[in-house]
Amino acid sequence: MGRVLIVTGGSRGIGAATCRLAAGRGYAVCVNYRANRQAAERVAADCRAVGAAAVAVRADVAVEADVVCLFEAADRELGRVTALVNNAGILEPQMRVEDMDAGRLARVFATNITGPFLCCREAVRRMSTRRGGAGGAIVNVSSVAARVGSPGEYVDYAAAKGAVDTLTLGLSKEVAEDGIRVNAVRPGFIYTDIHASGGEPGRVDRVKASVPMRRGGQPEEVAAAILWLLSDEASYATGTFLDLAGGR
Ligand code: NAP
Repeated sequence: MGRVLIVTGGSRGIGAATCRLAAGRGYAVCVNYRANRQAAERVAADCRAVGAAAVAVRADVAVEADVVCLFEAADRELGRVTALVNNAGILEPQMRVEDMDAGRLARVFATNITGPFLCCREAVRRMSTRRGGAGGAIVNVSSVAARVGSPGEYVDYAAAKGAVDTLTLGLSKEVAEDGIRVNAVRPGFIYTDIHASGGEPGRVDRVKASVPMRRGGQPEEVAAAILWLLSDEASYATGTFLDLAGGR
């Protein structure tokens, strides 16, 4: 049976690098995006250029009906999902907790933690041997922020990533007997667009001196770890975390 991968937020950054690497390794790839159709179609075209089946599918992971449609589209276009990367994530402008309102918190939690929960649910329903599936693997994209808390910048985002870590631990144990492995990566400072949405496009270069390796990371360096966790080489790894943070 073919391997079918859904990458949420596959249109840019770490998600796009993951889609391209997966296509080169023989996965059929569903490139999810929320708004940037052009970027998603470009990634899907790159996947097809190396011989992989690939489709770009719009869905806001924070919206339950969208998530259901995303998985149904993958079923229809590529076949039953065998791998999921919960990568879609957002930052809001840097501020202290004392200035955060409920609207911001709702947005940050909806995309960064409700989204991964809903996508895990849909993936488990298809992968679980308990439900007639063939098993599978899930990788959640957390962050070093879950460990350090991101004071003065985005404690809300860091807290959501802490919840992603707990989701990874709990779900990994819940479905271990059902043929599904659930792991996570925790990137550090990676060169992507996400820092601009936090209000500081040059953030990685500002903070890189604080990294033991004295540099920021590239999306491809995170994608390589994600692909390893999805692969059969990681067959005894579940409920585990790989930090890609230059020693931070
Ligand atoms: P990015 O370059 O800003 O890309 C974000 C991606 O997520 C885009 O494809 C975007 O789609 C998509 N997206 C955002 N909200 C979505 C939603 N509600 N539904 C569906 N898709 C959505 O971000 P990135 O830096 O690659 O981040 C990817 C993941 O890595 C995130 O979970 C982030 O928290 C995590 N991370 C990043 C870093 C870092 O330094 N970059 C560090 C630690 C963890 P559109 O193109 O359609 O907008």
